[in-house]
Amino acid sequence: MYRIGIDVGGTNIAMGVVDESYRIIEKKSIKTSENSNPQEMIEAIAEGIWELIAGLSEAAENASEKDIKSYDLIETIGIGVPGTAELDTGKILYANNLGFEDVPFLTELKKVLGPELAEKTYFENDANAAAIGEYITGGYNVPVFVMVTLGTGIGGGMIINGKLLRGCNYAAAEFGHMSINIDGCDCNCGRKGCFEDYASATALVEQAKEALKSPEGKESLLWKDIETAEDLDGEKFFGAAKAGDAVAIDVLDGYCNYLAEGLTNLINILQPDVIVLSGGITRAADLFLDKVKEKVARDIYSRTSKVNTQITLARGISDSGDVGIIGAALVDKM
Ligand SMILES: [Zn+2]
Repeated sequence: MYRIGIDVGGTNIAMGVVDESYRIIEKKSIKTSENSNPQEMIEAIAEGIWELIAGLSEAAENASEKDIKSYDLIETIGIGVPGTAELDTGKILYANNLGFEDVPFLTELKKVLGPELAEKTYFENDANAAAIGEYITGGYNVPVFVMVTLGTGIGGGMIINGKLLRGCNYAAAEFGHMSINIDGCDCNCGRKGCFEDYASATALVEQAKEALKSPEGKESLLWKDIETAEDLDGEKFFGAAKAGDAVAIDVLDGYCNYLAEGLTNLINILQPDVIVLSGGITRAADLFLDKVKEKVARDIYSRTSKVNTQITLARGISDSGDVGIIGAALVDKM
């Protein structure tokens, strides 16, 4: 049996067939057009699902699989969406990257897919889907599991006693919009000083771009491969930090403080067994994780406890580029 996972993003929709060992055996990608309306997107997704299933039945190696009707090869179809997925109504309440508000997304997709596939189709917020995927494929067996994804923003998911915590309105675990500075910068959510505006991967690069303008910044190694500050990206930033550039290291120290501040808040509230950090930026974690852990250990309320939260890097799927697809494929499990 196979699962289909679909990761709906602001610029493209990644889809794939996942086998029982959580490997992707077939993949495809659809561009999300700038002002695509929900119905067009739903039809494109349904089209993609049918293509993947058709490919699967053609590729079935053994006769017994070929004899099975192609829909029966599919155990579930899961979709991760970048917004609030209201499970009881099938609606996406709000997805700012897609420009969706109150869209009956799952309901309409099920109609297009027809009853046989509809009953196997689920959806979930994408950060929750990633947390489910990491929890299952990473073999965590802990009562309180928290995942924090450092990307364009900061996403998260919480799994408590094997259950995803969705909250009363499916909007739980928006860690990125926890304020760490009420006098801080304006966030797109309407608050000030949100965690993601200081500790996302995007925020780190913005902090580095700002530092480039200082007198020391002008001499920095950060300028080595770029012509304007806008050319700076995470990879170039970490390259300079690794080479010992004082400006880059200074920026990274500041970033560590912000990241530690948010993680300390999460620990003080939840005292989770584990906080898993994921996102492309964690590939450079050897340059910052120890500093973050030290600050957290100094600041947490429970600093004198014998047992404290482990902060670790993702070990399951989250480090692969396919976290969105595999996570989505597993959302029915919680
Ligand atoms: Zn915010």
